Amino acid sequence: MKRLEVEEKMKNARDSLNKFAIKNNHPTLSYKSVAVGYLDITEEYPKGPVSQNFINKLRHICSNGLSLMSAGHHDCEFCIDEGNYEGRATSCSEKILIDKENNIQYKFPEMIFHYIEEHGYQPPEDFVLFVMRMDGGMVI
Ligand SMILES: [Zn+2]
Repeated sequence: MKRLEVEEKMKNARDSLNKFAIKNNHPTLSYKSVAVGYLDITEEYPKGPVSQNFINKLRHICSNGLSLMSAGHHDCEFCIDEGNYEGRATSCSEKILIDKENNIQYKFPEMIFHYIEEHGYQPPEDFVLFVMRMDGGMVI
């Protein structure tokens, strides 16, 4: 799935929650939606070094947080493209992290670890810095 499609869905979900919130006099959500690690075989993606500390921290956050939703079964398109059916990763879960300080809602698939470690994906710097700042208590 493409990153922009994921962000569009996040916005739609937020908008419908906001409609409900306004109707019921609840505070509305104004997070900026940022999808990280949604790579598509038809698009170029940023590559580069990623610190092991970041990977470890993100794994730690993932293993402690709740996995709220299932994105459905997804095979790594890059592995399949290379004919690597044996080693391909599959993933069906996604995580959401809220950066309250900067008003950003991040969403990423667990497949992100496979993309980083096997395909050289480099997540955006803002996301990396946010994860490194996290105390681990804000996963939903
Ligand atoms: Zn792969």
